[in-house]
Amino acid sequence: MIITLEPDAPTAQLLDAIGQMVRQHEGIELRTYEFVGTTQKVTEIHLIGNTRSVPTEPFEALPGVRHVVRVSVRYRLISRQPGVETAVGFTYNDVHFDESSVHLFAGLCAVDTREHAGEMMRALARNGLHTTRMGVYKPRTSPYDFQGLGTPCLPWLFELAGENGIKVMAIEVCDARHIEEVLTALEQAGAPTGVMLQIGARNAQNYELLKQAGQQRTLPVLFKRGMGLTIEESLNACEYIASEGNTNIVYCLRGVKSHLSEPHRNLVDFAHVPVIRSLTRLPVCIDPSHSVGRLSRAPDGLLDIFHAVGQGVICGASMVLVEFHPHPLAARCDAHQALSLDLLPRLMAYVERVRRAYEEVREIAAS
Ligand code: PEP
Ligand code: MN
Repeated sequence: MIITLEPDAPTAQLLDAIGQMVRQHEGIELRTYEFVGTTQKVTEIHLIGNTRSVPTEPFEALPGVRHVVRVSVRYRLISRQPGVETAVGFTYNDVHFDESSVHLFAGLCAVDTREHAGEMMRALARNGLHTTRMGVYKPRTSPYDFQGLGTPCLPWLFELAGENGIKVMAIEVCDARHIEEVLTALEQAGAPTGVMLQIGARNAQNYELLKQAGQQRTLPVLFKRGMGLTIEESLNACEYIASEGNTNIVYCLRGVKSHLSEPHRNLVDFAHVPVIRSLTRLPVCIDPSHSVGRLSRAPDGLLDIFHAVGQGVICGASMVLVEFHPHPLAARCDAHQALSLDLLPRLMAYVERVRRAYEEVREIAAS
């Protein structure tokens, strides 16, 4: 059962009153959660245990209680409560992650040289972007392929980010040690930028890693749906992060593995953007690069990657993760799907137009 308080309700007093009422029932634990967004703060009191015989009415009658719901899903912390129209979201390093805007995280699949990372970031700065992706620890299919530059590149990567006004950089972590190393390097560099920890598709059910990402509260987490996970499985996995204390999570769709995806790398699953938005309070990201996986162009002249971006943004995605490279042919990972820098302003304009279209159709639907 979840008891949601009014924003201005006296939390401590209500917690006291609810605690007294709950003590009449055996084996029920109370936990309080606060979700702090850009424009709103939501406090929830969760009753954990068998609450079937606990009536909701006495709680509903308390002044300051907004609503009480019996939770029917297992991913209770990330789930969207019935009747909640706008998700709370969160702010990290001055960037607001919620449903009111869309952020383009354009950057390198894998950081290969300082020069390339610099070129990429300078292009972002020229175009007024403050968010990027930079792969440092690369999980590769073959152990003989380039595995990323790893921890030694973090000091200069953070320095470059600071010089170019990057506020949030998504970095994939594959092991608890990586989280520690990113946190330490960021602190030693004086935090000139921010990092969003990316949990990749291969680690979407690495529960120990998910728990570690949830135990630290400094960095938000970008959780990618596993390659062949059902929505239910992926949301339960994502709940591992939240259940450890970190609810600053973005959920990312990146295509699912299927022989039916041909000729694309994965089957684009962006029709699930509104599904994730309905089921959870999480901002939703789309990754068209790993979904489409190639630079093919449709007869209308647009790259398939652009079309996939459009499919996600028109459904209300809040974040787009796209791979670029200043010299795509030289990329040491995923060269076949890297966009060249001249496409950056075009992609930005495209995202902006599609987002505007989404806002317009949303208004029409509401009228
Ligand atoms: C990536 O974004 O670099 C990546 C490896 O993607 P995924 O985990 O979705 O395969
Ligand atoms: Mn990649």
